[in-house]
Amino acid sequence: NNFEDYDVNAGIESTLLVARNEIKYWAEVEIELGNIPLIQAVGGAINQVFLNIFVNAAQAIKLKNTESLGLIRIKTYSDEKNIYCEITDSGIGIPADQVNKIFNPFFTTKPVGQGTGLGLSISYDIIITKHHGDINVTSRVGVGTTFTIKLPIKQVAH
Ligand code: ADP
Ligand code: MG
Repeated sequence: NNFEDYDVNAGIESTLLVARNEIKYWAEVEIELGNIPLIQAVGGAINQVFLNIFVNAAQAIKLKNTESLGLIRIKTYSDEKNIYCEITDSGIGIPADQVNKIFNPFFTTKPVGQGTGLGLSISYDIIITKHHGDINVTSRVGVGTTFTIKLPIKQVAH
C-alpha cells in the first residue's frame, strides 16, 4: 500500500530542487505555500506528479519563445478535508479542442523524442485512482495554464 504521512509543501520544494535546473532558463518561480496538514499519500508518486507538471509548465513557457522569463506560480491551501495545489504557468496554453485529451495516454503535441504523452495520464492515475483526489485544468491560448490538484487529507477504505 505504501501510504505514509506526507508533507505536500516539502514534496513541492524537493521536486523544485530537481526541476529548477531546467526551469531557470525559461521561468521565474513564485511559491506561496499555505499552512496545510500532512496527508496520507504515496509520497514518491505525488512527487512524480509535481515533477511532470513543473516540467510541462517550463516547456510550455519555452515554446512561447518570448525574450523575457515566464512565470510559474505554485500555491497550496487546504480546507477541512482536502489539500489543494495550484500550478499556474505563463506558457502557450492549450487549445480548447485539446484540453479534454491531455490526460489520454500517448497524447502529446511535442516533437517525436521530446514527449511521450504519458506524464499526465500517469498523473491522473496517481491522483484520482490511487489517492481518490482530483486534477483539473483551465487554460487560455497565449496566456497560460493552471493545474489544480486536490488530495484528501485522510484516506478512507474504498
Ligand atoms: P508530454 O509532456 O510527454 O507531451 P504530458 O502527458 O505531460 O505528455 O502532456 C500531454 C500534452 O498536454 C502535452 O504534449 C501538451 O500538449 C499538453 N500540456 C500539458 N501541460 C501543458 C502546459 N502546462 N501548457 C500547455 N500545454 C500543456
Ligand atoms: Mg509531460
